[in-house]
Amino acid sequence: MQTHEIRRRFLDHFVKAGHTEVASASLILDDPNLLFVNAGMVQFKPYFLGQQTPPYVTATSVQKCVRTGDIENVGVTTRHNTFFQMAGNFSFGDYFKRGAIKHAWALLTNSVDDGGYGFDPERLWVTVYLDDDEAREIWKQEAGIPDERIQRRGMADNYWSMGIPGPCGPCSEIYYDRGPEYGAPGGPEADEDRYLEIWNLVFMQNERGDGIGKDNFEILGPLPKQNIDTGLGVERVAFLLQNVDNVYETDLVRPVITKAEELTGASYGVDNESDVRFRVIADHARTAVMLIADGVNPGNEGRGYVLRRLLRRIVRSAKLLGADQPSMSEFVTVVRDTMAPSYPVLATDFDRILGVAVGEESAFLRTLASGSKMFEAEADDVKAAGKKVFGGSEAFVLHDTYGFPIDLTLEMASEAGLTVDEDGFRSLMAEQRKRAKEDAQSRKHAHADLSIYKEFVDRGETEFTGFAELTTEATVL
Ligand code: ATP
Ligand code: MG
Ligand code: MG
Ligand code: MG
Repeated sequence: MQTHEIRRRFLDHFVKAGHTEVASASLILDDPNLLFVNAGMVQFKPYFLGQQTPPYVTATSVQKCVRTGDIENVGVTTRHNTFFQMAGNFSFGDYFKRGAIKHAWALLTNSVDDGGYGFDPERLWVTVYLDDDEAREIWKQEAGIPDERIQRRGMADNYWSMGIPGPCGPCSEIYYDRGPEYGAPGGPEADEDRYLEIWNLVFMQNERGDGIGKDNFEILGPLPKQNIDTGLGVERVAFLLQNVDNVYETDLVRPVITKAEELTGASYGVDNESDVRFRVIADHARTAVMLIADGVNPGNEGRGYVLRRLLRRIVRSAKLLGADQPSMSEFVTVVRDTMAPSYPVLATDFDRILGVAVGEESAFLRTLASGSKMFEAEADDVKAAGKKVFGGSEAFVLHDTYGFPIDLTLEMASEAGLTVDEDGFRSLMAEQRKRAKEDAQSRKHAHADLSIYKEFVDRGETEFTGFAELTTEATVL
């Protein structure tokens, strides 16, 4: 089943059950606590907070989401896109736990001919919050799920709040068992790769008081009106229904990998390091296009910095795979072709989107060219001195000033018959990270769950300094 169809079926299922279909909000909403919209409920916040009265009691949407906190996961896990579509159904004081569970179960397990996704009910597992026996009973009664496939999870996984005083409540998540070839038994508590999380049902039933973060706050008491907020990962359902190995190989993402194979001469599916790069290109190209479409321009801070980082990672990854020509315009074109049926603005605003992406590529290629000059001059000096080691501090300057990730420096050094003082490089990186952390700490925001994008928000007015603060050593760029 194609991703567009998965999306459509979700909306149809809930519209048929009386929900109002609401269009996705922009990725950029005027919310001081959010860099990008990262969940379906964001546009409904004023309703959940009781600041506005919703014009409907139940709604459904497929929301564009960007999670910058998942950047490091891209291509490494099987399930994290930076851009994905979260399908959701929402109840504002209308149905509660039983309704939410019945709806979700029907859509997942109804046959394909009957408008559902046709999942085998025996392969579905659920989690409930520690003491949420009510949800547990409903799962048994309405879905016939046996005790063995219901797991209890604590505050960090299965209790939701906005990170600020307001509604909160337990969640219940639905997982699909991909089978013994993907890991050991034991349910989602044991292995989230074998057991793939597909849907999160949030039961807003309490009022949250002050406190910090996701799992350390006071619960004041029941809300006057109970609400439902759910989020299903459309890409994750596509991953399962299309029988592929991960979210990067689904119909809307994989074509970029194919294009990258064509342009770089490398093959996907041969070695893991290259595969991660292919997936990074495919994932980030889509995210970058969606961000530009919603008005983001590359820059040195905040949203612009995220976009810049995504675009540069594409360029870098393509280069490391062997691209010797600019390839951005081809990637952006493939994204338009796959995504425009759901997001027509990608076609109507294509020239602008393309211009922004290609402009950043050209600028970065120039930076890379001057960095390469610096590298060569330094490498010549090292060799002339009869040495074999490229200095850690020079590698750091390449990283910090020219945006050279360490693996590029390593590769170039190896081609020049040199090694790199990686320890020296890493200790300079660690120092810089420590400084950035102290800096961030001193300006830490006093409220809100900033965990996903905190590092970007906290950058404040700082200058662009390469990927330093935002890249872990494990990242493949
Ligand atoms: P995970 O534990 O896999 O990181 P999550 O618990 O962070 O997921 P939720 O915040 O519960 O995810 O979001 C609701 C749903 O959105 C998830 O059940 C999943 O199907 C989907 N989803 C979340 N993050 C991503 C992502 N990075 N890429 C694709 N789908 C996602
Ligand atoms: Mg997550
Ligand atoms: Mg999870
Ligand atoms: Mg979840």
